[in-house]
Amino acid sequence: MYQTIVIGGGQAGLAAGYYLRKYGLSFVILEAGPEPVGSWPHYYDSLKLFSPAKYSSLPGFPFPGRGSRYPSRDEVISYLREYASRYHMPVKTNTRVEKVEKINGTFYVSTTDGEVLEAESVICATGSFHRPHIPDIPGIADFQGEVIHSSAYRNTAPYQGQRVIVVGSGNSAVQIGIELTEVSNTTLAVRTPVKLIPQVKFGRDLHFWLITTGLDKFPFPLFGRPVPEPTAVIDSAGFKRRLESGNPNQKPMFASMYEDGVIWSDGEREKVDSVIFATGFQPNLSFLSGLNALDGRGFPRHKIGVSNATTGLYFVGLSGQRSIASATLRGVGDDARYVVRRVIQT
Ligand code: FAD
Repeated sequence: MYQTIVIGGGQAGLAAGYYLRKYGLSFVILEAGPEPVGSWPHYYDSLKLFSPAKYSSLPGFPFPGRGSRYPSRDEVISYLREYASRYHMPVKTNTRVEKVEKINGTFYVSTTDGEVLEAESVICATGSFHRPHIPDIPGIADFQGEVIHSSAYRNTAPYQGQRVIVVGSGNSAVQIGIELTEVSNTTLAVRTPVKLIPQVKFGRDLHFWLITTGLDKFPFPLFGRPVPEPTAVIDSAGFKRRLESGNPNQKPMFASMYEDGVIWSDGEREKVDSVIFATGFQPNLSFLSGLNALDGRGFPRHKIGVSNATTGLYFVGLSGQRSIASATLRGVGDDARYVVRRVIQT
């Protein structure tokens, strides 16, 4: 019997592990993948962090190298690998949780290979970006070209010479859209025009200002107001110039799709080869379905990471869990500390 079982071995699970170890609780981290590096290997090849290295660390271990640079996806993977080994994290890899039950005050955590582990409490750290969301567009099933979610996008290679529509106006949509213009004729289909925020202001990175003003880790909810969703795209590489020159161009979201392409809101039909939906994610917590811990949309019922429905059940790494930085490398440590303290008090 463990005091705590952590489900998910990404940055959120490792940050939870750091504080569980620090406060002397017995625990194990169950990770579906072969390594405790979260979803980072599945993100697109050219990804660079939006925060500089010095603002991208988990508790206890600063991100290596020059603080002002923007680390690559692969550097994050190496950092997480090293973090897990440095703190001797008790991670069981290749272990996917399929069901969590609570009977007479004890949690029973069942894995897909038939093992059942017991614990007094459970921390879910399975990420906010696991269930890709594609909106229900009329005619989408008739379209004969390629439809993917941005989570399946890796690089420009398959799109050489194509007509491509990227749906969305967030960070992923803009980054993917801009790199695709190198090889294809690309349009961003947007519900609201892209809003940009400069990466560097008055000679300092945006994160310096967020942290200095206290906005970054400001603990919401405040007077019942939820954590605001960041809507602006960080302009890390001349995005303003590229968008202003119409490469890629922006068009209001298309109304529907047909066999060969999209039908724009003014009725124009256009043949396209591929549509990439950068339209967000939802958490994947289906293993909790037996606990009444989720709402009708599959989102956890919780307050600042503490389940409202099931005593002893916690979350770390949810988007907007406690601050605008909750689901980031720089922010997840504070949330993990808060949650582990609540575990101890329960
Ligand atoms: P994940 O990394 O998703 O880790 C969850 C882990 O849980 C995974 O390893 C998964 O295998 C495991 N798991 C899931 N289900 C189960 C199960 N049933 N049983 C066992 N294990 C399970 N943040 C930044 O700070 N800077 C950035 O620049 C940045 N860029 C981003 C770019 C993209 C495209 C995206 C999508 C996100 C980005 N983020 C960034 C946000 C965030 O830091 C990452 O999404 C990060 O991967 C979240 O870490 P996590 O540990 O919460 O979840």
